[in-house]
Amino acid sequence: MGNKDYEEKRDFNKTDEPKGDSKKSSGDQPIFVIQKHDANQLHYDFRIEIDDSLKSWSVPKGPSTDPSDKQMAIPTGDHPLDYADFEGVIPEDEYGGGTVMIWDKGTFENIKKDDNGNLISLKKSYENGTVEVNLKGEKIKGGYALVEMESGDMEGNWLLIKMDDDKADARRNPTSTENKSVESGRTLNEIEKEESES
Ligand code: MN
Repeated sequence: MGNKDYEEKRDFNKTDEPKGDSKKSSGDQPIFVIQKHDANQLHYDFRIEIDDSLKSWSVPKGPSTDPSDKQMAIPTGDHPLDYADFEGVIPEDEYGGGTVMIWDKGTFENIKKDDNGNLISLKKSYENGTVEVNLKGEKIKGGYALVEMESGDMEGNWLLIKMDDDKADARRNPTSTENKSVESGRTLNEIEKEESES
């Protein structure tokens, strides 16, 4: 299974990130995580569980709760499921060097249906380039679509779009107003400070 690329990019003697020998899914509901990552360029890593891996996108502006926003989501490699628990500091000269916060986390439901109203598997949706999920996080809730761009300058990139449902809210701006880890309650600065002391 496809975490080889993930392992090849990292030296596990130097980084505290989890190794690629992934645990299996807990089985009930798939998980998602959004990690705020203060690397060279601050971004949000959006990861959803598909077939025992975390499919991942780098979202420079982070998720929006406004359905009229379309956020650029650049696909990055698969990550092991354990990665959803990682918060800490990746050493500067390592791959992805910088501080990582578990900004939001939870389970989700696949809601992508075909024309006959039958659910399309997550794997198939991902291959088709249109994933639709109902997220149950602390900050981010409700329907989100991930759509792959099939032509033009953006080809190969995806868009992350809030679906227009009862969780949509154009006035909320969680990436600027909700700045703490849902796991530890820490800010990026606090994570950086505490991890470099230990
Ligand atoms: Mn990242």
